[in-house]
Amino acid sequence: QNVLLKVDNLKKYFPKRTASLKKVSHVKAVDNVSFEVFEGETLGIVGESGCGKSTTGRTVMRLIEPTSGSIKFDGEDLSKLSKKVMRKKRRDIQMVFQDPYASLNPRHTVKKILEEPLIVHGIGNAQERKERISEYLEIVGLDSYHGKRYPHQFSGGQRQRVGIARALMTNPKLIIADEPVSALDVSIQAQVLNLMQKLQEDLKLTYIFIAHDLGVVRHISDRVAVMYLGSVVELAESESLYAEPLHPYTKALLSAVPIPDPTYEREQMIITGDISNSVTDTGCKFQARCPYATITCKMSTPDLVEVKPGHSVACHLYSTD
Ligand code: SF4
Ligand code: MG
Repeated sequence: QNVLLKVDNLKKYFPKRTASLKKVSHVKAVDNVSFEVFEGETLGIVGESGCGKSTTGRTVMRLIEPTSGSIKFDGEDLSKLSKKVMRKKRRDIQMVFQDPYASLNPRHTVKKILEEPLIVHGIGNAQERKERISEYLEIVGLDSYHGKRYPHQFSGGQRQRVGIARALMTNPKLIIADEPVSALDVSIQAQVLNLMQKLQEDLKLTYIFIAHDLGVVRHISDRVAVMYLGSVVELAESESLYAEPLHPYTKALLSAVPIPDPTYEREQMIITGDISNSVTDTGCKFQARCPYATITCKMSTPDLVEVKPGHSVACHLYSTD
């Protein structure tokens, strides 16, 4: 399997105001995150809001500049490119956003919305662009007459189809989808997920699929990374993660998901505590909410360690030394 994207020790710290003006403090939105994405796969990134999953996605594309770390895409370190070269690189990495209404210019027709990335990247002449727009409207399940319409004339699901078509216009290798179905009705979610899966097969796409719910990414993801307060706490193949979650946080997230298969019995855990006041500088970030926390968890930060082939976890319960 070819590695398309390799992210190493990615950090994004935002400065934070503190009461004492002398003290400089940071919010570690992305705190030393490393992962790989293989060509043609879907890597799910899951966690509660504020865990840094969206910031991770945006930092990979340098829509947000990383504080440090390397982002190797197709053999090239994106973090070292000039802004100008990076803009050109975005032809190969596109994003689908959560709220298609907010991400589509309301004053532009769909045709104009879809044409924009082609113009930005200098792809095709007017006739070729027109043909490509009709082709891609059809690929996402819309008709070419929809090109004349404005975003408000569409349903939420149709708008997200437009958002997906826009992301595909430049023929990208990697799509970073940030909660692409979270704003949609449950009945529409499955349609959009199915469309994305079909497009992945037909167009040989690689996805990073960001979601706040493990249920949503279950069927679309080959592997899943679970994030908590800026760190990846568990990373595994989907089958392994859902059948045998290791990290207490993953277990808690899964116990909140209704699981139709009765053979999957799980400890029911209630997450206590509040994400905003559980930030500590030393030790495991989950300690305040973890029913298994010990003194070791307060003293030292667990590293993400592979404990079974393809299954990594950052928790002292699984450390062997
Ligand atoms: Fe809980 Fe300790 Fe594991 Fe953190 S390291 S998840 S506090 S058991
Ligand atoms: Mg988000």
